[in-house]
Amino acid sequence: MVDLPQHLSPSSASAFEGCPRRWRFKYVDRQPEPSGQAALVGSFAHRVLELLCEFPPAERTVDRAKTLAKQAWPEFETDEDYLGLELEDAEARAFRWQAWLSIAGLWDIEDPAKVDVVSTEQKILVDLGSVPFVGIVDRVDRFGGKLVVSDYKSGTLPGPRWRNDKIRQVMLYAAALRQSMGEIPDRARLLYLGQRILDVPVTERRLEDAVGSLTEVWAGIATACTEESFEPRPTVLCGWCPFVEQCPEGRAELARRMDAGSLPAHAPAAALLAVA
Ligand code: SF4
Repeated sequence: MVDLPQHLSPSSASAFEGCPRRWRFKYVDRQPEPSGQAALVGSFAHRVLELLCEFPPAERTVDRAKTLAKQAWPEFETDEDYLGLELEDAEARAFRWQAWLSIAGLWDIEDPAKVDVVSTEQKILVDLGSVPFVGIVDRVDRFGGKLVVSDYKSGTLPGPRWRNDKIRQVMLYAAALRQSMGEIPDRARLLYLGQRILDVPVTERRLEDAVGSLTEVWAGIATACTEESFEPRPTVLCGWCPFVEQCPEGRAELARRMDAGSLPAHAPAAALLAVA
C-alpha cells in the first residue's frame, strides 16, 4: 500500500485526472518533473506581478514592473529549472521578452493601480468536504467591497470547451477562501495576461461541482494508493510526459501516433522516438 498524500492541490488533482501513472511518478516516486519553458515564463511573470502588488496602488506602473523584473531576474536565472532549459543567448533573450510580454499584458486587461489587493500568493490549507486541500491563491481582491479571487494565466486562453477545468480550479480557491475567511467570494477571475479576463460569478452550484469533482479524484487516489495500481492513460499528451521512457503504454501510444502522423512534431518525445 502506498501512503496517501497529506494534501491535495488543484494541480495534483488535475494531474491524477490526466494520467494516474504519471501522477505516481511525480507525487509518489517523487521523480523530478522539470518545468517546461512556458511554465517558467509564467513563474517569472507571477513573481514580478506579486512584487508589483506589494506597492501602493498609485505606484503599480509599467515602469515599476520593469524595475522589478530587472531586480528579480538575477535570482531567477540561477534557478535550477531555468538552468535546465540550457538556453543559448538568443533563446534566453527571447525567454525574457516573452516573460515581459506576459507581465506587460496585465495592463491590457486591467489597471492594477485601480485594484484593491487584499493578499497575494496566499497559501490555504483547509478541509473541503472530506478532502485535505492545499492551494496557493495568486491574488485576492476587493471590488465594491466584495471579495474576488484572481488567478493569473500566462498561457493561451483555451476555447470554450476546455475552460471548465480552469474554472473549477479557481472555484476551489473560492471554496477554500470561504472556509478560511468565513466570506463567500463574489466572483472568480482568470486573468489571461495580454488577452482577456474570464470573470465567473461564484455560485453555490459551481462551488458544489468543484468540491464534488475534487472529492471524486481524492477517492480515486485513495483507491489507487490502497491497491498500488496507477493505470496509464495514454493520449497525445504522452508526447510531453517526462516519464515516457519508463512507460511502455505511453511509448506504444507515441509509436502509433508517429505511424499515423498524428504526433505533433514539437512534442518533446517526438525527438526521443526519432533517435530510438
Ligand atoms: S507516457 Fe502517457 S500513459 Fe505513460 S505515464 Fe506518461 S502520460 Fe501516462
